[in-house]
Amino acid sequence: MDERNGTGGESLLIRGARILGGEPADILVHDGLVAEVGRDLEGRPGLEPVEIVEAAGLIALPGLVDLHTHLREPGREDAETVETGTRAAALGGYTAVHAMANTDPVADTAGVVEQVWRLGQESGRCDVRPVGAVTVGLQGERLAELGAMADSAARVRVFSDDGKCVSDAVLMRRALEYVKAFDGVVAQHAQEPRLTAGAQMNEGAVSGRLGLTGWPAVAEEAIISRDCLLAAHVGSRLHICHVSTAGSVEIIRWAKSKGWDVTAEVTPHHLLLTDELVEDSPVGSYNPIYKVNPPLRTRADVMALREALADGTIDCVATDHAPHPVEDKETEWAAAAMGMIGLETALAVVQEAMVETGLLDWAGVAERMSRTPARIGRLAGHGRPIEAGEPANITLYDPSVRAAVDPAGYASKSRNTPYEGLTLPGRVVATFLRGRPTVLDGKLT
Ligand SMILES: [Zn+2]
Repeated sequence: MDERNGTGGESLLIRGARILGGEPADILVHDGLVAEVGRDLEGRPGLEPVEIVEAAGLIALPGLVDLHTHLREPGREDAETVETGTRAAALGGYTAVHAMANTDPVADTAGVVEQVWRLGQESGRCDVRPVGAVTVGLQGERLAELGAMADSAARVRVFSDDGKCVSDAVLMRRALEYVKAFDGVVAQHAQEPRLTAGAQMNEGAVSGRLGLTGWPAVAEEAIISRDCLLAAHVGSRLHICHVSTAGSVEIIRWAKSKGWDVTAEVTPHHLLLTDELVEDSPVGSYNPIYKVNPPLRTRADVMALREALADGTIDCVATDHAPHPVEDKETEWAAAAMGMIGLETALAVVQEAMVETGLLDWAGVAERMSRTPARIGRLAGHGRPIEAGEPANITLYDPSVRAAVDPAGYASKSRNTPYEGLTLPGRVVATFLRGRPTVLDGKLT
């Protein structure tokens, strides 16, 4: 389905929503598109009777777009499926997600990316754009069929070995050159493998006290430096996944100052949580719920990431939603899988870290969680303004509530959220995909 087409038929009126946090307005939706935006549209002569969604006090944002989601299908359907992951996405206010390639089999051929794309079409709750692997089997040895994936029905534009770093400089250079032919982008998981052998958590004071093998910031920063230089050398686009250190921010700021086509994302958890939680937290010490790749860093890193997201050095927020079944997380620290779920809490965490702190307004949130990720992924029909003629991909959000995080009701098949025991602001009230509600009153339709 073309993401620009409407889904037909139904009309609805979203009444009194604050678009990007502005003054209340009505949004008339018809045929999957925004038909009109204005004051008091109800009762306007000539307006057909419509279904009305009351949105007084709610913020209207363009449907959120995630550049970095692990849906786990095919291969790890015990952790997540396209169906459960897109349900979680809709509940989080997302209308499109990019599904990472580290599945089993790996999404490194046109056949596998088309399979994931079709599963997304069938789910119907959220558009799924597959990410293609850069190298065959994520093995880092030879390039995958990037052109075939780009030409497939899935129209892949983002390529990543995420979970692993493309550490071979020659392969990375060739991938950056190759994707230029179809306006693609290589999304690098920046982790120098030799510097992180056996690494368990951020290298610093806490890892020293706990006796866990450290994961140095330089392992991320060295790859980001190299890849910015490579991207500039070949004149290609580079995207950097889950930036986690203050040093990485400085390198990206420098690369952007040169005019190089480098973009970067940060996860919600790296905007809020620190490595001190590994030592002392509401759920004890050494709790693998906080084990994640890249690791949680220091308070100073968190502050640098927030500033970088606010000033545009980091372009967007991406969840790195990484579901794992209980048996892979509730085990001893060294054996536990790395990763956290995040689709259903992303907007709340961004409100807490960026809006409540005065660093971003809602227009800024829309830019970084919808418009920019859609642009980086070349995802037509998403990240568009809420204006007449645009696809009606809309999220209604109530920023005024605050509640304890309770994963019991999550749609994700996994429960590995690091926010249990915390209170977070906000609630996604409704999500519309091309005018059709996927979530109403905080529940799946
Ligand atoms: Zn990654």
